[in-house]
Amino acid sequence: MSRPRVVDPELPPRLRRKGGAYYYVTKTRPAKWIPLGSDRGEALQLYTKIAAADELSAALPKRQAVVAPGRDGEMERRFWSKVDRPSPDACWLWTASTTKSGYGQFGLERGVVRAHRLALELATGKSVEGHVVRHLCDNTACCNPAHLAIGTHTENVADRVERGRSSTRGKSNKAVKLTGRIFNEARARALRKRKA
Ligand SMILES: [Zn+2]
Repeated sequence: MSRPRVVDPELPPRLRRKGGAYYYVTKTRPAKWIPLGSDRGEALQLYTKIAAADELSAALPKRQAVVAPGRDGEMERRFWSKVDRPSPDACWLWTASTTKSGYGQFGLERGVVRAHRLALELATGKSVEGHVVRHLCDNTACCNPAHLAIGTHTENVADRVERGRSSTRGKSNKAVKLTGRIFNEARARALRKRKA
């Protein structure tokens, strides 16, 4: 039994609402539904950022895709098994090894890659090579594709400055930051213990 899909004529073309939550539907074939949470205002903000990244990603040559399809998605399963996904709009924290600065690392045949970059490649089916992948949530361990966007170093720096001044996404942004901080502090403590 499937619930009838809610069609809202006021939503932008790639933003859909299903089961009380908002989703960004990618341009890729097959399309992927990226969860944007249940808050309309927040979903619209995220939508704008993801849409820009998706436009750019659609413009990238397809042959550059590093995520080889097939193999029954074995690599994808292995990858997502290392990501803690408590809810669609939460930060999805990387649970395996990280770099000194807190970025998740994942081993592929071609070498070790940053987990958040691969997360966006898996979500869009396109390579992010040559592009900066920004964390919209400021949480380096986060792999939620909805919190990631392709951008430039300048935008990355501008993001941090803007967030330093004001919280653009209200309470949930603070919660996201706090989660990240608690996570990083706990990890630092664990590392210190190991060294002692
Ligand atoms: Zn996040």
